[in-house]
Amino acid sequence: MQFIDLAAQYQHLKEKIDARIQAVLDHGHYIMGPEVQELEQKLSEYVGVKYTVSCANGTDALTLALMVLDVKEGDAVFCPTFTFFATAETIAFEGATPVFVDSDEDTFNICPADLEKRIEATLAEGKLKPKAIIAVDLFGLPANYPALREIADKYDLKIIEDAAQGFGGEINGRRAGSFGDIATTSFFPAKPLGCYGDGGALFTNNDEYAELLKSYRVHGKGKDKYDNVRIGMNSRLDTIQAAVLLEKLAAFPQELINRNEAAEKYTAELRGMYKTPVVPEGYVSSWAQYTLTAADRDAEMAKYKARGIPTMVYYGTCMHQQTAFKALGYQEGDFPTAEKLARSVFSLPMHGYL
Ligand SMILES: *Cc1c(COP(=O)(O)O)cnc(C)c1O
Repeated sequence: MQFIDLAAQYQHLKEKIDARIQAVLDHGHYIMGPEVQELEQKLSEYVGVKYTVSCANGTDALTLALMVLDVKEGDAVFCPTFTFFATAETIAFEGATPVFVDSDEDTFNICPADLEKRIEATLAEGKLKPKAIIAVDLFGLPANYPALREIADKYDLKIIEDAAQGFGGEINGRRAGSFGDIATTSFFPAKPLGCYGDGGALFTNNDEYAELLKSYRVHGKGKDKYDNVRIGMNSRLDTIQAAVLLEKLAAFPQELINRNEAAEKYTAELRGMYKTPVVPEGYVSSWAQYTLTAADRDAEMAKYKARGIPTMVYYGTCMHQQTAFKALGYQEGDFPTAEKLARSVFSLPMHGYL
């Protein structure tokens, strides 16, 4: 049994995907070909935003979002400590300082109450300028955007929604990718919507941000890529990946139903044995991971292994515990909930063809 069975998905979609890839080989527009535009339009419709700007991967998407918000040295950007490294890495990469925030024990997402405390502490210290929040839709569940938006407004901060795992999630009928001032996603093969290599995208309703993103992703282009009006990067989605994604996006709504049915079955069977995932009222998860918590995680994982069922740990190390962030000076115990999660979470196989 596979943890994420990409082969089963390919067998299901093979004819359509093969035809889409062949069409790109036939027309030969490998960079920014017509499939890229078609995909961006379809993604905007699905997510419910004005603009989608595709790019090379989810990490670049975060970097591009921070560039658009002019995040730089001296700025504080708040993000959960319990997340994938790229969320915090890109903040530091731009020269700004990541300020870590503890998690909500039930949803695994950034804790709004702790966020407000950390913003107040940063303001009181007076060394850094609070600029933005990167909220992560961890394991497929959107973060608590109603609460986060109130805090962002109160302190005049922008929200970047890291929806790398959240694509397909919802709050009260609104889709993930539409909650941030800018949102980012990843099409890494194992994500809920993945391609056959690296890929990513940004979502926004802001005209100015969309223009800047299109410039930054092609060397800070002005009227064309040989007219360079700002320092940018090279971060485009390959046409072949866009072609694959068009077919995977068409299959995505049914896969999302399948993932939710699988999650419901897991919860029905496992409730009582473990703490099962919590999906708050009005929320929909895209189940990037189905994550349990157990006091003796290693013993539990061994039981699954003995029966040929793969399990994984996302994540065993918080950001404040990472060697690369040692210089920020955090201590064990600074984020009690996130540290407890890092010690006790493990995930079961999850995909649309389980
Ligand atoms: C996967 C992931 C990213 C990075 O995406 P890549 O496409 O691998 O660069 C960023 N944030 C989160 C939360 C992720 O899970």
